[in-house]
Amino acid sequence: MSSKQRNPWHVAQEQFDKALHHLDVPASIAEFLRYPKRELTVNFPVRMDDGSVRIITGYRVHHNTVRGPTKGGIRYHQDVTLDEVRALAMWMTWKCAVVNIPYGGAKGGIVVDPYQLSQRELENLTRRYTTEITMLIGPDSDIPAPDVGTNAQVMAWLMDTYSILHGHSVPAVVTGKPLSIGGSLGRNQATGVGVMYVTREAMRRVGIPIEGARVVVQGFGNVGSNAALAMHEQGAKVIAVSDVHGGIYNPNGLDIPALIRHVLETRNVTTWPDGDVITNEELLTLECEVLIPAALENQITSENAHEIKAKIVAEGANGPTTPRADEILRERGILVVPDILCNAGGVTVSYFEWVQGLQSFFWDEEEVLKRLERIMVRAFDDVWNMAEAKGVDLRIAATVLAINRVAEATVMRGIYP
Ligand code: GLU
Repeated sequence: MSSKQRNPWHVAQEQFDKALHHLDVPASIAEFLRYPKRELTVNFPVRMDDGSVRIITGYRVHHNTVRGPTKGGIRYHQDVTLDEVRALAMWMTWKCAVVNIPYGGAKGGIVVDPYQLSQRELENLTRRYTTEITMLIGPDSDIPAPDVGTNAQVMAWLMDTYSILHGHSVPAVVTGKPLSIGGSLGRNQATGVGVMYVTREAMRRVGIPIEGARVVVQGFGNVGSNAALAMHEQGAKVIAVSDVHGGIYNPNGLDIPALIRHVLETRNVTTWPDGDVITNEELLTLECEVLIPAALENQITSENAHEIKAKIVAEGANGPTTPRADEILRERGILVVPDILCNAGGVTVSYFEWVQGLQSFFWDEEEVLKRLERIMVRAFDDVWNMAEAKGVDLRIAATVLAINRVAEATVMRGIYP
């Protein structure tokens, strides 16, 4: 993380404080919700292909367990910090409460660049990390999932390792698994499709037709590529996308299905021939109807918020907009659909995967997507109504809604002893 970037934990705290102004929760409960319930840091050795041993640092943080087992992804990225994992865990608590699924929030992270590792090193790393955090995870206590830098294969190794340590298969310990070992249809595209559902609702509310709308997507990983595809399939015109190498721009619209195939082979959007190469900064400030940041935190800041030309910012990523940028966008009349609502489709289908696995009864894709749509649209309406009732933006409204739900459950459970 560069020194110019804001600490995500401070961002999460500031958002929490802003929401508290609009809430009537006892100070002790606010204090309880402010901090993670438990945090684990692990340092462990991994044997590399050349025979050397590397010491790796990882984290798992449980923010809140009041509404159910904790849920949240595991991130593999060279810039992971404990404060980032804390923020992501807190956002998971609010996210699960916004869509009203029975989970608390957690997150894990490993300080490593997974793209510098061989498959065998990645497997060794995953199995050892799973072993190190095994006392915190479990199908009834804490259920990991993919996040930045991890995928279904990593979840399969996690599930296998946990199962070996427990002497029997425990598929419900993790979601985002491959279909062959109890994954759910629709999970892979769920976050991106969920982004589309709430963006569509937001467009409806502000009167922008989706057909032909210009969409810009920052990040072309699981979330960005599936959000771009879902918007494309709705008739929107995706005019620019980017990845770590830079952006590609075509004012007539990119052929997203073909671009996805290209990126599967090359892992680089900028080598796509049918468009102009642009920088990430240029991409964020393109003229468009919808901007979908779907990469990392701190992308829309006080430095570029004045230049954003989108009418709607739909946060596919977690924490892409800083609090100051939020204020600037609001002053400029740009509608922000906040992360804890916008990208909640992923954890929602994770919940479906967990439920299906526990019952050993699996649904078809149509059923999964129909249920996902119902939950996302209802959550959008709840947040929109809260924003109108309180006269606040959608982020504050979503956070207020979430804190209310968690606070109510906290009061109901009472204090032990
Ligand atoms: N990592 C995803 C998120 O940030 C998904 C978490 C999950 O499915 O548990 O929401």
